[in-house]
Amino acid sequence: MKLLERELTYLQENHLYRRLNRMDDSQAARTVVNGKECLLLSSNNYLGLTEHPELKAAACEAVTRWGTGAGGSRLTTGNLQLHEELEKTIARFKKAEAAIVFNTGYMANLGGITALAGKNDVILSDELNHASIIDGCRLSRAETKIFPHKDTLALEKLLQQTQGYRRRLIVTDGVFSMDGDLAPLPRLVELAEKYRALLMVDDAHATGVLGRRGAGTADHFNLEGKIHVQMGTLSKAVGSAGGYIAGSRKLIDYLRNRARSFIFSTALPPAVIAAAIAAFRVIEQEPQIRENLWANAHYLKSGLKQTGFTILAEESPIIPIFIGDSGKTMQMAERLFARGVFAPGIRPPTVPPGTSRIRVTVMATHTREHLDRALSAFKQSGEELGII
Ligand code: PMP
Repeated sequence: MKLLERELTYLQENHLYRRLNRMDDSQAARTVVNGKECLLLSSNNYLGLTEHPELKAAACEAVTRWGTGAGGSRLTTGNLQLHEELEKTIARFKKAEAAIVFNTGYMANLGGITALAGKNDVILSDELNHASIIDGCRLSRAETKIFPHKDTLALEKLLQQTQGYRRRLIVTDGVFSMDGDLAPLPRLVELAEKYRALLMVDDAHATGVLGRRGAGTADHFNLEGKIHVQMGTLSKAVGSAGGYIAGSRKLIDYLRNRARSFIFSTALPPAVIAAAIAAFRVIEQEPQIRENLWANAHYLKSGLKQTGFTILAEESPIIPIFIGDSGKTMQMAERLFARGVFAPGIRPPTVPPGTSRIRVTVMATHTREHLDRALSAFKQSGEELGII
């Protein structure tokens, strides 16, 4: 216990101690956090679909018809018609032959990576990949080689040096979660083809957001059908919960038989699945929601830049505002909150030391008035702390 206490003290002294913030209302553009009314400027609920009447109705109907829980894992008694309908919907959306749903995006990465790479294989992983990819690599027992962020020259060198392995898996975030930039997918596809490697892309932050149809980074880069393993989550823009992998029929059949996080966990409950099915309908039929999201992202980014903030990337609705020092980042987050803007600071170990930031995300449901209010809170707080 002394050891735990020491560790906690260390975290506190180094501004790395984490506290839970409590949402006292729904995940709408305006909400209540820790009892205080504020603008929500940090949710992954990009399209605001958690509040969409069609999703809510679908979830309620599913409870009435199917009950509240799935009662078993997919391979035992938990495989409802709804799960299969969702998988068909995702496959269509991603222009893939088939799809498999996991209970979270985290579990999709863990299950997918450990099923696809083992002892005699090598994984080539971008240094800024999400923690769930890192954990999947560790658990897989495959050799893992990390390449510098988006450095395709370094990746090619690694591909040349690893010809002897049984299988080579290149894995990358599609949109990097803490930086908001995009993977160099066209080059990654070329390299995977040239060196006969498998390519896996985590589209957690791209699903419903990027591309002409909102189908993700493959849609954005016109590379549909070129990525072997398309992973994503249903918990962000899709407004529900769960993760998925889409790909060839053979890949999905293999994952059903080999992905342990799929096999050994109770299937997602009906309400969650039904909400996700409804979300894909809305994403397809109401493209103006996505257009609002992008218009809001452009508006806020240009306002922040004009105010003097440094934005690390501008390719997605994730707007990382560079502060650097973790103590100052937390002060900034506190001042923003005092002014009614909830946008927490992101510190190590989530991001490398010295690169702490406020990670802002916009939603389709923010109004111009919301964004103007946020800009003024950023300006005042930034000036007070000498950041701008
Ligand atoms: N991949 C990335 C890039 C993510 O940002 C996240 C969520 N933070 C996940 C995977 C995990 O998804 P989920 O929250 O559905 O477990």
